Amino acid sequence: MTDIRDDATTGFREAYGYEPTGLWSAPGRVNLIGEHTDYNLGFVLPFAINRRTVIALGIRDDTVIRVASEYADEVGAIDIAELSPNRLRGWAAYPLGVAWALGQFGADLGAVPGVDIYVASVVPVGAGLSSSAAIESSVAIALNEVWLLGLDRPTLAKVGQLAENKVVGAPTGIMDQSASLLGRRDSAVFLDCRSLEAQVVELGFAEAGLELLIIDTGVSHSHATGGYAARRASCEAGAVAMGVASLRDLTVDDLPLARASMDDETFRRVRHVVTENQRVLDTVAALRSSGPLAIGELLDASHRSMRDDFEISVAELDLAVEIAQSNGAIGARMTGGGFGGAAIALVPSGDISRLQVAIDGGFAEHAFRQPTTFTVNAADGASRDR
Ligand code: ADP
Ligand code: MG
Repeated sequence: MTDIRDDATTGFREAYGYEPTGLWSAPGRVNLIGEHTDYNLGFVLPFAINRRTVIALGIRDDTVIRVASEYADEVGAIDIAELSPNRLRGWAAYPLGVAWALGQFGADLGAVPGVDIYVASVVPVGAGLSSSAAIESSVAIALNEVWLLGLDRPTLAKVGQLAENKVVGAPTGIMDQSASLLGRRDSAVFLDCRSLEAQVVELGFAEAGLELLIIDTGVSHSHATGGYAARRASCEAGAVAMGVASLRDLTVDDLPLARASMDDETFRRVRHVVTENQRVLDTVAALRSSGPLAIGELLDASHRSMRDDFEISVAELDLAVEIAQSNGAIGARMTGGGFGGAAIALVPSGDISRLQVAIDGGFAEHAFRQPTTFTVNAADGASRDR
């Protein structure tokens, strides 16, 4: 953490030639359970991870915003009055999109000073750990403070989501920004995507001697976007066939009727969402009553449901999960949207290195590209750091 803050300060100084006013940071996130439930207005259980994006910010005496990052060469610059969704391109769309979105949530953009922003990050980009929410959330809390906006964190989550939906153009839910802004050390964020009510749920991994291993397969499939759209369409069709506004309105007791009301493929998509919502509720209940050793089977069942019913897994993810399960993990599943990305495994600390070796060996045996594996802890959400 210390290094990355120094990187942000040094980068700021080199890019702009003066000292920043302050440093703010926000974490990436991993979703413990609750996949493809967000847009069905169901439940998710992500947590903020101990990998953060740090921004250094300086206040200007005009109305220009500049953004620079160690990640990209171009420095973006725009007058605040010119901010609009279709004028923002590339990575700068994330931080500048947040500035625009704050205006949509009541900030008087005609009355705030310009700023210089420098971004440094150790959240891997595109690994399913939401580097995008980390950059949005760090910019959102920083501008909220220096522009004296007084918006609360749930509203800042909506600001980040609006930037991502309308400026970047990605039709994502509110999960990532909520985890990044509301996360707590050793805890997950239990989010109801219909009411947007969020509760902090203690994970107790360290106390139980467990660690969460991320297995990033590095696989990204070209049909991920099409597959995502097709799954959303199936969920909508299933809700229409059952006469409900969203699949959130169904429970496992409705599944026999659902089976009789739609084609088999649509039914299996529906069954995934309905049972996954139940698994999130069961996971929260198990964490509260018995602790994390009790959630392994729920993680395993979530993976089977995504593999067989929702059909969004790939061979690399299935392999990672199988190797984890037969090398000490108490539970494992793919995480994220699917068609590639990462798997997670909940593993006794003493078994981590053995499991990493087994994964490397298994992937080599199948002639799959070597995955990247690393552990994450549940960390605090966005903060001012200096
Ligand atoms: P992820 O799963 O990591 O959120 P996304 O595609 O949603 O993947 O977001 C990644 C994008 O966010 C990058 O392509 C880049 O535009 C932007 N981004 C993330 N981190 C940084 C950074 N440190 N500096 C600049 N842009 C970043
Ligand atoms: Mg993202």
